[in-house]
Amino acid sequence: MFAIYSDPLNAEQLKSEAENPTCGALVTFEGWVRNHNEGHEVTSLEYEAYSALAVAEGERILAEAKEKFGLKQAVCVHRVGHLQIGEIAVWVGVSTPHRDAAYKANRYIIDEIKVRVPIWKKEHYVTGDSGWVNCEECAKHGHKPQMDYSRQTVLPTIGKTGQEKLAQSKVLVVGAGGLGCPALAYLAGAGVGHLGIVEHDQLEASNLHRQFLYSMEGLGEKKVALAEAWLTQYNPSIAIEAFPARFQTLEVEQLAEYDLIIECTDCMDTKLLVNRAALKAGVPVVFASIYQFEGQVQVVTPDSSCLECLYEGGAPAEVPSCSVAGVLGAVPGVIGSIQALEAIKQLLQLEGRLENELLIVNLADYSMRKLKLPRNGKCPAHDTDQPLPESVDVTIDEIQLSEYQIIDIREPAEVAAEPLPCGHQHIPMNDLLNNPQQLEKDQLYLLVCAAGVRTQYTANAFRSAGYDKVYSLIGGNRVIKG
Ligand SMILES: [Zn+2]
Repeated sequence: MFAIYSDPLNAEQLKSEAENPTCGALVTFEGWVRNHNEGHEVTSLEYEAYSALAVAEGERILAEAKEKFGLKQAVCVHRVGHLQIGEIAVWVGVSTPHRDAAYKANRYIIDEIKVRVPIWKKEHYVTGDSGWVNCEECAKHGHKPQMDYSRQTVLPTIGKTGQEKLAQSKVLVVGAGGLGCPALAYLAGAGVGHLGIVEHDQLEASNLHRQFLYSMEGLGEKKVALAEAWLTQYNPSIAIEAFPARFQTLEVEQLAEYDLIIECTDCMDTKLLVNRAALKAGVPVVFASIYQFEGQVQVVTPDSSCLECLYEGGAPAEVPSCSVAGVLGAVPGVIGSIQALEAIKQLLQLEGRLENELLIVNLADYSMRKLKLPRNGKCPAHDTDQPLPESVDVTIDEIQLSEYQIIDIREPAEVAAEPLPCGHQHIPMNDLLNNPQQLEKDQLYLLVCAAGVRTQYTANAFRSAGYDKVYSLIGGNRVIKG
């Protein structure tokens, strides 16, 4: 709630309005009339507001803060009229489940109110003089400057209209790694108003040479939180929504709230699921993948060819991940930047955007070409009534370990070196695949290997043979603590 009061503010009463029983933190701010400003002795103040506009803008700021910081309750009241020294001029109170978000939200609200809400201040001085304090003066003294998009709005294809469209756009970026970092950074810089980030991984030292939203200080932390912090600092006027989860946990309804998805993972299973889920949600996707010095970019819209059109029903080969194939940081840097550019072209429907094409960028010899990619009439992915394929992969955070019968499929030497610290059966992979009758079709199994690659293969083989409850643990034996 945002309101303009002409009577003195009652902080206790406002506090009770900002409280929420589900929250662990209530942070309040009181801005008082002080007895001096800019070297003048002040005796009193007058505030005037353009009320209708002020309330509308104030409500907008509170709504932004609610979305940005997960607020349960937000109250801001601004006084108008003639105020004496020591009276409260503005009061802000926010409740959130956690204190960090409450502090940040409170600060965000007061900073935005000062810059955006049309309220003017007249100071009365000891000398008998008085004067309106103008906003240019305020701007010089610590108000947050906004990002200036003039270098891109001067482009005839963008302009003011394009910039406003970008500010109203919502883009979901799946994967905040080598491709996701440049894609996110350039979209934030372009002023795309709302960015969602889906990423479940923690930061490892081997990520850093290509993933520049992170630094050594963040090792071991959740990448999605680090990316959110970087982007918020880079462009504070956009909203960031962080999903510390795998794409598999998102609902089609959540995807439908976005104008566009950018797929930045190196996992073929995820790409195929994003393809199907986005077609169901009716949201376009900018896909990309890299292999050593080569990158490929493809756009899938509800009316275009899709990722599966290419394969005529057969499963595409898994692209080896960066850890296997190797990568120079600049390669995903270029391809992720192309994804951001293509996203802007799609959002603004600019000329030259990809349509039923596969863009192949070879950075070994700097050649680029586009292949026609017509829609395949037999491609099953466009039948949006079909249920989404269920992935065999699960993370340790998504499951109750005790509900599963755990099978370690590693070789005896690996098991001896690093035994599983929980109850399990040991059946090496080949033995299990050659003798599938060792498992029961209605039993819930969790297969464990060293990383989740062998178990993914094995679980998929069992699924094809009608064992619907066989899962593969992402991360392998090391993610199981005793
Ligand atoms: Zn298709």
